[in-house]
Amino acid sequence: MTASHVHSHRHADAHPDPPPKRRRSFAFDMDGVLYREGELIDGAIEAVTSVRALNLPVFFVTNNSRETPEQIAVKLQQLGVDAGPEEIVSAVVATVEYLRNLPDKPEPVLVIGGDELAEQIAGAGFKVASFDDNHQIDLVVAGVDFNLTYPRLTRAVQALVNDGAEYIAVNQDPLYPTVTGLAPGAGAITAALTASSGIVPTVIGKPSPHLFNVVLERSQTSAQDLVVIGDMLQSDIAGATNIGATAILVLTGTTSRAEAEAATGNLRPNIIIDSLWDLPLDQLLSS
Ligand SMILES: [Mg+2]
Repeated sequence: MTASHVHSHRHADAHPDPPPKRRRSFAFDMDGVLYREGELIDGAIEAVTSVRALNLPVFFVTNNSRETPEQIAVKLQQLGVDAGPEEIVSAVVATVEYLRNLPDKPEPVLVIGGDELAEQIAGAGFKVASFDDNHQIDLVVAGVDFNLTYPRLTRAVQALVNDGAEYIAVNQDPLYPTVTGLAPGAGAITAALTASSGIVPTVIGKPSPHLFNVVLERSQTSAQDLVVIGDMLQSDIAGATNIGATAILVLTGTTSRAEAEAATGNLRPNIIIDSLWDLPLDQLLSS
C-alpha cells in the first residue's frame, strides 16, 4: 500500500494533470456515418470507442420511425458498434417525449405510420385511435406508412379539419431508403395532409430541435457542448447549427466535398472530415 502510494505520488509529479478537457456530448447519425446499405463504414467502431474511452456521452440519432431503440441497438451491436437502447434517440423516441411533455395529454392519438410507431406511442401510455371508427381525434402523428391507404389519409384529414386535432410529423424526409431503392418518405405523406388541411405539422425529427433536445436532456450538456456528426446538410448539419451545436459533416454518406464546401447559412458544417478516422477529438475537447 505504501509502495503504491509512493509510486502514484512520484507519477503525479512526473506527469502533472493536463488542463480539464471540455465536457462534450456526441451524437452520431447512423446511415452514411456508421453504416451504409447495412455495411459497417470503416472507422465507425473506433470513433465510438475513442469517445467512450474519454467517458463522454454518446448518442445515436436517426429520423427512422420503423425500428425501436432496442432493434436499432441490436443492429449496431451486430455491426460491432457498442450501443445501448437508451443511447438511441430516434424521431420516434423524440415524438413520444414531445407527447409526454404536452400540458394536456392528447387522447386519442391517430397514428399514420408503421405498426412500430403506433406500438411505441401506445406503449408510452397514449390511447391510439382505430381507423375503423370515427371517434374525435385530439392529435395526429404522421410518419412513413408503407400501408398508406386513401381511407387512412381521409381519416387523418377529417381529424385535422373537423376535429381540430394537433398535427405532429415524426420527420419530413422526402425520401426513405429501402433495400430495393428509394421510397416516398414521411414528407410525402405530411405534404398530402397539409395540402388537404392547410395545416403545417410540428416536425420532431432532424433538422428540428426536438430530437436534439432529447439528446441534451439525457446527456445533461448544453447545445454548445454537443457535437453532431452526420452526412446530410439538410438534416444533420442544419439541425446542429440551428441549436448552436458543433456540426461535423463526414463525407462517407450522401454529401460530396464540393457540396459541403459550397453550403452556406445553417447548412454550413463547422468541420468537414473525409471519414470518422479524422474525427478531431483533441481539437473538440480543447476548444
Ligand atoms: Mg445519414
